[in-house]
Amino acid sequence: MLYAKERAEIADCCRAMLRAGLTTGSGGNISARIPGEEHLCISPTGILYERMQAADVPVVDMSGRTVDGVMLPSSEAPMHLAVYAQRSDVRAIVHTHSPYAATFACLREEIPAVHYLIGFAGTHVPVAQYATYGTPELAEHAVRALGTEFQAILLANHGLLAVGPTIERAYAVAEEIELVARIHYQARTIGQPVILDDAEMKRIIGKFHSYGVQPCEEE
Ligand SMILES: [Zn+2]
Repeated sequence: MLYAKERAEIADCCRAMLRAGLTTGSGGNISARIPGEEHLCISPTGILYERMQAADVPVVDMSGRTVDGVMLPSSEAPMHLAVYAQRSDVRAIVHTHSPYAATFACLREEIPAVHYLIGFAGTHVPVAQYATYGTPELAEHAVRALGTEFQAILLANHGLLAVGPTIERAYAVAEEIELVARIHYQARTIGQPVILDDAEMKRIIGKFHSYGVQPCEEE
């Protein structure tokens, strides 16, 4: 089987996403670009995560055409393809409907630097303009909001999109940003949180980079 390791990792990560409460049912999707190849592995549509095997994860080319596998690729494949086309540093994408991040996405409010772990995404988490799920318009809005500097964005009235150089890292971004969204929600319910300024966030992002890919283990 082509790319057995990446496809197994995507199936495992989909189950982890469900167990961690980052999505429900078969919502959300995960993909990985194969370095040196014009291919990506992406979670399929219409299969329960608990039953998903590596072989159920389709492989598509950069135009979205299936290269291997019998399941249909996720309906959000156009968004994944558009992000890979814009960002050569991105090798994996995790899209969730995690409830606290989605709450701010429904308010169309960015998540500010309420906690230093926002540095997993950047100085804050911006909101992409609304468009119907699965459409080229949503892909366009997502790419615009992500720009070149963010590792996560909110999709208005929808959820969260996290990116990274590996599946593990993109998943960690999604998990940490959901935690920050929850903290922001909680802080707002009992008071007005103090937001870290951009200079402090840039210092923190610099520290994250110098520690490598596991910044939270250092604190
Ligand atoms: Zn979605």
